Amino acid sequence: MKIVFATGNVHKLQEINEIAQGTDIEFVLPPDGFDPMENGETFEENSLIKAREAARVSEMISLADDSGLCVEALDGAPGIHSARYADTAQARIDKLLGVLKDEKNRKAKFVCAMTLVDKDGNILFQTRGECHGEIAYSQSGTNGFGYDPIFLVENTSRSMAEMSEDEKNEVSHRGRALRKVLEYLNNN
Ligand code: IMP
Repeated sequence: MKIVFATGNVHKLQEINEIAQGTDIEFVLPPDGFDPMENGETFEENSLIKAREAARVSEMISLADDSGLCVEALDGAPGIHSARYADTAQARIDKLLGVLKDEKNRKAKFVCAMTLVDKDGNILFQTRGECHGEIAYSQSGTNGFGYDPIFLVENTSRSMAEMSEDEKNEVSHRGRALRKVLEYLNNN
């Protein structure tokens, strides 16, 4: 079964198709015209906005995620603003390391909300996955994307960017959320 995944990010699409391997579900990009207004105030609201926009342009069952990094010492920032925290991925990393400087509380979590809608935009299932860890004092690793090089995964001594794709998918917020969506699809 083909399900539209509401993103323009090919890397994300690959990541979730990787996780869905072994099921009969294939996620595909939305058609031209997909242009969601991400103006929600929570990860859940933004994922619903994106899923509905994908269903509107594709007239197909659609899944969207909205994710970000929440840092405890910053009251959850950058949170839903993670993608726009600075202009480039490297600038976002540098900014966060600079803002945290010598802060001792490095606790952080990646959050991923996912919303599945039918072709008319009605919610079928909504869930959330989290991955807990800490912000490192400097970056390491070259895999993954975004804040991966400065996110140390709980109970490991490695950054997300030092993990293989399979290892990341096992523990990541997106992997955790998507496995719940796949379970829902399998049972319904
Ligand atoms: P979204 O595409 O609106 O969900 O934006 C999420 C933003 O949060 C991305 O642009 C990244 O900056 C960050 N982010 C989300 N998931 C990850 C991840 O798995 N690794 C690193 N950064 C992530």
